Amino acid sequence: MNDPAANWQSIRELFRVFLGNDVAFRKFIQTCNTKSRESGRLTYAQEERWNSFTNANPEFKSLTFEEVVAAFHVCHIHLKPLRSVEVPIRKDVVSVSRTRESEAQISQAAFYAIPFVVDSPAWGEATHLSVDHCEDCVRRRKQIETGHDHPTAATTGVNPRGRQE
Ligand SMILES: [Zn+2]
Repeated sequence: MNDPAANWQSIRELFRVFLGNDVAFRKFIQTCNTKSRESGRLTYAQEERWNSFTNANPEFKSLTFEEVVAAFHVCHIHLKPLRSVEVPIRKDVVSVSRTRESEAQISQAAFYAIPFVVDSPAWGEATHLSVDHCEDCVRRRKQIETGHDHPTAATTGVNPRGRQE
């Protein structure tokens, strides 16, 4: 229990076996990395799952919310640890349009690989934002965008600031 990463990995394994459902396991992870981190709490559905797990494994009942999200801070697609990366805010871009296929492909295969953030008043003076990256997602995204597996997958264009305002 001295190495937190090993500890987190064993919690994930126990939880995955407990759920007995790979889809639910990955969904739990994805929600941890998105909604839960934004709201600072587990969702109702997550709480139900986590509580039934800790009822069966009381040694994990004392974990705080921060520890639970740290334990599940892995890519829900590749199950690799996520690392925080500073990505630039593109002040000249307010939205990105892609084909529906490439949008779907990126979110299903390379969810944690955003190359930059589009501008928003919410960022204020910031020039970079900290986002989660998975090295396998980054690799997949490059393959998708260079069209190795899908001819329509390339980014079709960015909308310069003001074009649609
Ligand atoms: Zn990944």
